[in-house]
Amino acid sequence: MAATTPTPGDFHLPTDDVSQTLVFTRDALAMMLQHRQLGSTEPESGGMLFAQIEPGWITVRVATPPHRHDHRLRHAYEPDLKQQQREIHRRFKEGLHFIGEWHTHPEARPQPSGTDLHSMARCFATSRHSLRAFVMVILGTAKWPDGLWVSLHRENSITRLHPGKSAGLIRWLGAGWFTPFTASRRSPNPKKK
Ligand SMILES: [Zn+2]
Repeated sequence: MAATTPTPGDFHLPTDDVSQTLVFTRDALAMMLQHRQLGSTEPESGGMLFAQIEPGWITVRVATPPHRHDHRLRHAYEPDLKQQQREIHRRFKEGLHFIGEWHTHPEARPQPSGTDLHSMARCFATSRHSLRAFVMVILGTAKWPDGLWVSLHRENSITRLHPGKSAGLIRWLGAGWFTPFTASRRSPNPKKK
């Protein structure tokens, strides 16, 4: 895999205190954006985020699409955990690390629900990994980038990442939250709005 020199159009999320930047590639963003709940009846969608981890950079190269066994409702989304575990192993062989999840909300400027927050904290606490935080992305319906929520989660803390402008690119601040790791789920992690 090529070294992570961000290409124009990639989306950057520099972090707040340590020099590590979270980057979403165009492909990963496009996958998430195409599932926004823009219609009045579309169900929530969601998937996993897989990143290449290097000193200074965490590059989210893959956002997986909804899986046919996911449980999807207008205001709820629950992934197929067995399928997720298989995906984690498969992507790890490609050098990509599971760092979090994305899902949609049928609201303009998405806010995480109590279930979202609880789910991320539990995921962080009960998964086997060496991450300092998990990433949660929520896609709402407002115009880019207002309809985007990105946050870092640990067992007892949440940090929202905010966009800023730098060198013509939208940049968001994150921190030295990530080190290479392997992750696997040990307990069910239902995710509902
Ligand atoms: Zn949610």
